[in-house]
Amino acid sequence: MSISFKRTYKFAFKSALYITIFGVGFVGFLSHYIFHPNQEDLTSFLIAFAFSLYISSFIVIQYRVEFFIYRRVKKIYDDVSFLESSTIINQPITTDMATLTREVKKFATDKKMEIETLKVREEYRREFLGNVSHELKTPLFTVQGYILTLLDGAMKDKTLRKKYLERAEKGVERLVYIVKDLDMISKLEMGDLNLSFEKFNIVQVAQNVFDLLEMKAEKKNIILSFDNKYSKAILVSGDREKIQQVITNLVVNSIKYGKENGFVEVGFDVLANGKVIVRVKDNGEGIEKQNIPRLFERFYRVDKSGARTEGGSGLGLSIVKHIIEAHNGKILVQSEINVGSEFSFTLEKAK
Ligand code: ADP
Repeated sequence: MSISFKRTYKFAFKSALYITIFGVGFVGFLSHYIFHPNQEDLTSFLIAFAFSLYISSFIVIQYRVEFFIYRRVKKIYDDVSFLESSTIINQPITTDMATLTREVKKFATDKKMEIETLKVREEYRREFLGNVSHELKTPLFTVQGYILTLLDGAMKDKTLRKKYLERAEKGVERLVYIVKDLDMISKLEMGDLNLSFEKFNIVQVAQNVFDLLEMKAEKKNIILSFDNKYSKAILVSGDREKIQQVITNLVVNSIKYGKENGFVEVGFDVLANGKVIVRVKDNGEGIEKQNIPRLFERFYRVDKSGARTEGGSGLGLSIVKHIIEAHNGKILVQSEINVGSEFSFTLEKAK
């Protein structure tokens, strides 16, 4: 690549001026005291001398500086250009030190930012991998444990065989559930969501979720209902399947962290600004204030001890947040410990 050369003359201009002043003063002084010339001759001589001294020193200094700086500065440009900095190599080489310093500083700042981003990404990758293996380990070892016990002889006992196979199957089910969530979250985080927008009745979608989760709720004697009679359809615009997933995750949580004989209530508000609010409310265990800001983080769980009977992957709410944000919506939480929680999100009303 040919690099153009940007000249500045300020340095040579000033240096030549200083040399000329000094030279003329010195020569004038010497001539005056040694040769005793008449005033007119001395003045014409000094003017001619000053003129030639200025021109010659300007040329020499400019040439030397260009040569000197060009060589060294070019080396700096060459050294940094292998890093493929678009900022530096596209610039003309300059003998102007202020510009060069500014450019090198900018180059260093850009590189620092690049390194910071890479560090954050690396940290994210490491944390993600750690969390994934941690999540998979428990059910995997459970399944392995039951299979080994069966192989060690338990399979000869008919009742034990059935019991252990059922437990192993539960473990596999949980593995599948975690892997599905992981698949979904990695797609969401890569921005690979491919939403297919359509117009649909959100009341109907919530009813589908109730139908699918009825059995799960019955196990804790939890009643799933609407807060009102919604006889008319509420049409929203969004990806129907993904929104069903959002409501499913919220209702599943309300059941999981709900009290026996409790309730889960879903409600809708149609706002004047063309939005629809969907609310999922429960009277479950609630969430402490200090944990609320972190709920939507990947793998975040309020109870990290693992002692809790209801375990998820810790991905449910971050999946919810990603989907809602991809719909340009907002999600809010209100919760009080031992009283209950309400998760609400907005959707675009269909026109
Ligand atoms: P998990 O798979 O652990 O349920 P989530 O991302 O769905 O992960 O939820 C994160 C945490 O938020 C849960 O571990 C739970 O402690 C808390 N949480 C979520 N929903 C509720 C709720 N309705 N009531 C109480 N706590 C909740």
